[in-house]
Amino acid sequence: MKPLETIGTGFDAVPVRTLRLRLDQVALCLDCETCFEIGSDPCPACGSGMWASVARFLNRRNEP
Ligand SMILES: [Zn+2]
Repeated sequence: MKPLETIGTGFDAVPVRTLRLRLDQVALCLDCETCFEIGSDPCPACGSGMWASVARFLNRRNEP
């Protein structure tokens, strides 16, 4: 079995995290500023329902 790929070398090497999320799958909690995947409705970090879609948030900023 192939060992996990690591970043850097030495005793403090950490496993590569391969989490990939599309921008429109990511929400930003307005209370604790944690990003999480849309789908788990309240914020998984603090339980707040006050969050915004990151993609929608960025598109709004580009509007004139
Ligand atoms: Zn939160």
